[in-house]
Amino acid sequence: MLFVITGPSGSGKSTILRHLWKDLRNIQFAVSHTTRPRRPSELNGREYYFISPEEFKRMAARRMFLEWAEVHGNLYGTSKKEVGEKSRAGDLVLDIDVQGARALRALRTDAVFVFVLPPRASDLKRRLLERGEDDKQTIRRRLANACREIRDASEADYVVVNDRLNRAVLELEAIVLASRCRVDVRMKEIKSILKSFNPPGR
Ligand code: ADP
Ligand code: 5GP
Repeated sequence: MLFVITGPSGSGKSTILRHLWKDLRNIQFAVSHTTRPRRPSELNGREYYFISPEEFKRMAARRMFLEWAEVHGNLYGTSKKEVGEKSRAGDLVLDIDVQGARALRALRTDAVFVFVLPPRASDLKRRLLERGEDDKQTIRRRLANACREIRDASEADYVVVNDRLNRAVLELEAIVLASRCRVDVRMKEIKSILKSFNPPGR
């Protein structure tokens, strides 16, 4: 199953996901390609595949991305290869911006869309300031974008309000676990259990 986690920058998507891996099994992270410079704490192939703008454009021209978008001045894209290969192994999570999620909603109606919201504007501002990655002007732009992006929340399947982190992590876990229990997802298992009651030749 494909889980698409989206929401404004600073709403806490990557923080919540970092905690999710500790508790959930059989779920992987789809590593995106980006032209953004690597941060000292990041590893190529773990957080992102870091590539040049030329390489990114070449991949986009060859239609190698399921979706891609320009986010805060850099290019980000989810490759078809990454999703294809990792989906075969089980559940997969994408952490993408609101434009990318909008594009995917039309393409992947089977995916579960989760929108992460900050509890209020002042918290988002404080978190962006405390994250310390952006200057004041960038933070102003991100807050203005957030106001527009949050209107998309009602299009998602689920909303997680990231007030207390522990609660937000629990809610995302609950969404993943409940999605795995859907009847359409469990159909094969239901049939196999049913078959065990009527084995062939009896
Ligand atoms: P995103 O991935 O959505 O851009 P981040 O995960 O980078 O957002 O979170 C933005 C900042 O907010 C980070 O500095 C993070 O430590 C902080 N943060 C995330 N969730 C919470 C929370 N529930 N309470 C307080 N701070 C938080
Ligand atoms: P950051 O540079 O802080 O890691 O991420 C900036 C934004 O880019 C985040 O909102 C993140 O969700 C988004 N993003 C990461 N990968 C992708 C992707 O493959 N496609 C799209 N559309 N957005 C992405």
